Amino acid sequence: MAPTDIEIAQAHTLRPIAEIGAKLGLGPDDLEPYGKYKAKIAPHVWERVRGAPDGHLILVTAITPTPAGEGKTTVTIGLGDALSQLGERTAICLREPSLGPVFGVKGGAAGGGYSQVVPMEDINLHFTGDFHAVSAAHNLLAAALDNHLHHGNALGIDPRAITWKRTVDMNDRALRQIVVGLGGKSGGVPREDGFLITPASEVMATLCLASDLEDLRERLGRIVVAYTTAGKPVRAADLKVHGAMAALLRDAVKPNLVQTLGGTPAFVHGGPFGNIAHGTNAIIATRLALKLADYVVTEAGFGADLGAEKFVNIVSRVAGFRPVVAVIVATVRALKLHGGKKLEELTQEDLPALARGIANLEKHIENVTRVYGLPAVVAINRFQSDTGAELDLLEGRVRNLGVPVAVVDVWARGGAGALNLARQVVALAQRVQSLPAGKAADPKGDGRKVRPPEGAAEGPGLEDAYPDGFPGGLRFTYELDEPIKAKIEKVAKQVYGAGSVAYSAQAERSIRRLERHELGNLPVCMAKTQYSLSDQPELLGRPEGFTLTVRDVVPSAGAGFVVAITGEILTMPGLPREPAAERIDIDRTGRITGLF
Ligand code: ADP
Ligand code: MG
Repeated sequence: MAPTDIEIAQAHTLRPIAEIGAKLGLGPDDLEPYGKYKAKIAPHVWERVRGAPDGHLILVTAITPTPAGEGKTTVTIGLGDALSQLGERTAICLREPSLGPVFGVKGGAAGGGYSQVVPMEDINLHFTGDFHAVSAAHNLLAAALDNHLHHGNALGIDPRAITWKRTVDMNDRALRQIVVGLGGKSGGVPREDGFLITPASEVMATLCLASDLEDLRERLGRIVVAYTTAGKPVRAADLKVHGAMAALLRDAVKPNLVQTLGGTPAFVHGGPFGNIAHGTNAIIATRLALKLADYVVTEAGFGADLGAEKFVNIVSRVAGFRPVVAVIVATVRALKLHGGKKLEELTQEDLPALARGIANLEKHIENVTRVYGLPAVVAINRFQSDTGAELDLLEGRVRNLGVPVAVVDVWARGGAGALNLARQVVALAQRVQSLPAGKAADPKGDGRKVRPPEGAAEGPGLEDAYPDGFPGGLRFTYELDEPIKAKIEKVAKQVYGAGSVAYSAQAERSIRRLERHELGNLPVCMAKTQYSLSDQPELLGRPEGFTLTVRDVVPSAGAGFVVAITGEILTMPGLPREPAAERIDIDRTGRITGLF
C-alpha cells in the first residue's frame, strides 16, 4: 500500500531550521526558533532588506474545485521544489491550516504525498500558536463589548445591532447561535450571540493585510463591532482595546519559517477564509519572501474567480504586489464533474464529459489572462485514475488555446514531477521582464536580470504561446472610488459571467449605510460559493447570464474591505458524522498517526 502523507512526512529527515534560513541569507540572529524545525523571522530582517529588489511572484490558483480540492497547495509546494532543483533561489508562501478541517472532512492543509511542508503534525496542530493568539485578540474585543454594555453603555450601543461575535478554531455547529448574558444582574446583558471559526475572524484578515505591528494596531482600531441606536458605527478604538489586541498579536505578526520535503524554505503565515475574507497568507510574509528569494510561489484560495480575484483587487492593491505568472491548477477529475459526470464516478474514463467540462477551465484562463492581465500556465495535477487519453485530450485543448500547459506529478514524485512546469514558469517570467516598461508586470521598471536556467525556453508550446497578444500585466477589475454596486457588478459580470446582479432590501440598506459612513471606497470582498462560477453551487461548468444575488454587504473595516455576501456562507462549519478526529491518535513516544 502507498504510504500515507504522515508516513511520508515522518520518514523524512528534516534539516535544522538554521540551514533553511541560510538558503535565504538569514543568519542565526535573524531567526526566533520554535523548537528545531520551526522559526519566526525577527522583525529587524525586514528593516535590513526592505530596499532590495523583489523576486518574481508566482500566483497559484485553480479551476472551480470539487469538495476534495484540486491540489493547489500540493502543486505550490511541488513547483517550489522544482524551481529549487533548477537552481533558483525559491521560497513558497502558504496559509496556516485551521483545526476545523483537520478534525473535520478535508484534513490538513500542508500539501500531500511527496509535496508537503514539514513538520506536518506541528503545522496542522497549533503550529506556533498564531491562531490561538488571533482567537484571544478577537475574544478580548467581544469581552470588552459586553463589559461596556454591563457598565452602563456610555457609547449608546444598540444591543440588537451588535455584529461582533466570538471565535474558536474548531468546527462546532452548536456554537453558531447562542445566548449570552444569562445568570441575572451580575451576568451581563442578555442578548443573542454566536461563534465564528478563527479563519473567519476579521482579526485574522486584518493580521494578514497589515504591513507591520503599528499598521495592525491602527487597523484593529477601525474594526466595526456594532451600531449605536442612532445607526453610527462603533469601532474597536471606541472600546479602547485595540492596543491590547495588538499586544496579543506581537508574535503572530512575525512570519513562520518551515521547509518543504525538498528543503525549500516555506513561509506559512496567517490563515484567512477564502469566502468572507481574502484567502491568502499574510502580506508581511510574502513581502519578505520577495526580498529574500528570486522566485516566490504563493497560493490563493479556491478557484481563480475567488482567491485570485481577491489577490489582484485586494492583496496586490494594498501590498503593491505584481505577480508575473499565474499557475492554474486543473484536474481531469474535476473537469469531468463540470462536464456532467457524477461525483462517485470521477475515476472512470469519460472523454466526452471531460471535453464538455473544459469550458470551466477556459473561463478561468480568460479571467487570469484577459481580466487580471497575467500570463497563465495550466498545471494538470495528475491523479492515479487519469488515463493517457484523458491527459492527452486536456493538454491538447489547452495548447490549442495558445496557453502553456504541463502535466505535473508532484503528489507522487515531489519537485521532480514539476520540472517542466517550473521551466515554463521561468520562461514566462523572463518574457514578462523583457516587455517594455509600463507593460511589464514590474511597473517600477527596475527589473533585475535573472540568469536563464538550463533549457528554460524549451517548454513545449511556449514559443507559440499567446498568439493573440501576450497579457499586459496586472490589471485591477475596478477602481476604489467607484460606487459599491459598480464594483460588485464588474466582478460579477467580467469574472463570474453573470448577466445581472440583484440586491435584497437588506443589501440596499447596508450599501447606503456604508457609503454614508465613508466605507464605500474600500475594495469588495465577494463571499460566494467555491463550487460554481455563479452563486449557485449546482451550476457547474461555465454558467452564463445568471443573476447574482447579493444578500447583504457588511464592513470589515479593520481588514480594509466590505464583504458582499451571496448565498449561504457558513462562518462556523460543523463536523461530519465520522470526523477525521476519530482517526487521529498518539502513542507513548509522542508519535502522531492518522493525520492526513
Ligand atoms: P487545494 O489546496 O487546492 O485545496 P490540496 O493541495 O490541499 O488542494 O489537495 C487536496 C487533497 O488532495 C490533499 O489531501 C492532497 O494530498 C490530495 N492530492 C492533491 N493532489 C493529488 C494527486 N495528484 N493525487 C492524489 N492526491 C492528491
Ligand atoms: Mg490549499
